[in-house]
Amino acid sequence: MPQSKPKILLIYTGGTIGMIKDYETGALKAFDFKKLLKRIPELQLLDCEIDTISFEEPLDSSNISIQDWQNIASIIEDKYESFDGFVVLHGSDTMSYSASALSFMLENLAKPVVFTGSQLPIGDLRTDAKENLITAIQTASLQDKGKPVFNEVCLYFEYKLYRGNRTTKISAEHFNAFASPNFPELAESGVHLKVNREILLKNKGNKKLKVNKSFDDNVTVLKLFPGISKNVLSSVLKTPNLKGIILETYGSGNAPTSEWFISELENAIKNNICVINVTQCSGGSVNMGQYETSTQLKNIGIVSGKDITSEAAITKLMYLLGQKVTPKVFKTIFETPLRGEMT
Ligand code: ASP
Repeated sequence: MPQSKPKILLIYTGGTIGMIKDYETGALKAFDFKKLLKRIPELQLLDCEIDTISFEEPLDSSNISIQDWQNIASIIEDKYESFDGFVVLHGSDTMSYSASALSFMLENLAKPVVFTGSQLPIGDLRTDAKENLITAIQTASLQDKGKPVFNEVCLYFEYKLYRGNRTTKISAEHFNAFASPNFPELAESGVHLKVNREILLKNKGNKKLKVNKSFDDNVTVLKLFPGISKNVLSSVLKTPNLKGIILETYGSGNAPTSEWFISELENAIKNNICVINVTQCSGGSVNMGQYETSTQLKNIGIVSGKDITSEAAITKLMYLLGQKVTPKVFKTIFETPLRGEMT
């Protein structure tokens, strides 16, 4: 009996990929994506069935909110049994945040969710959108003996398929706009699609998909810089209801050793604020204790973000707080890879 074609759901949230230029102002604005898709005859040639669903009001991804992540998660939850894979079309600006957030939300995921977008609109002559869209759909429909090859939230851009929660946007100019500094590509598209099978997340048996939609937004990110004042640090830590903070430190997790700096953080931790150490370097890992400038951070109980990206760190923080993980076990859980987001 001939096998049926994989069914792929395209979820259009917005972004440059579906925008057109406003003739009066020259600014890019969202456009009816279904109409645009009709102009891409190549999609008919793909060996899969494609259906689309669009946000009522497509967004520039700078406007993406927790509620939008919940919407994407709900669509996937509702359509999970009817489709073999999902492609999320999304603006590139915050794509790494959304891909990270969705990776945490979708527990026991056993189908591919591939985020993609483009630097130029799909109607533009020089667009990167067509290749990104077509190969994202192909990777989402890739199967091995009737089972999806990818069981995780991925991000496809400019010939590379990445683990979504390992990515960061590195260029506002180049087609090659993303990097995964601490984890290899899941696949590379050339004449053939080369899949790096050994590093893929494995399908965890027959566990049912669990969608965790609660996020807590009582969090912040603070990037250290030489000259940061006590006033700034203590104001941030006094934010009403603050429950967690990503501290972007230097190098392998280093920070000033001034007494005021350490005692501000120590007090915050005593007040049950989770403090996570993430490096502001684009590659490498936090290793508290390697230098004297991080030993005290370790001693006061700061959580190590290891080699996590800031995007994955802030979304993991909002996710764990949303799941009501208590400060007592928070450190252990944050330091454990949940969806391959850290080594
Ligand atoms: N500003 C756009 C967005 O993130 C850029 C893009 O789509 O690449 O929605």
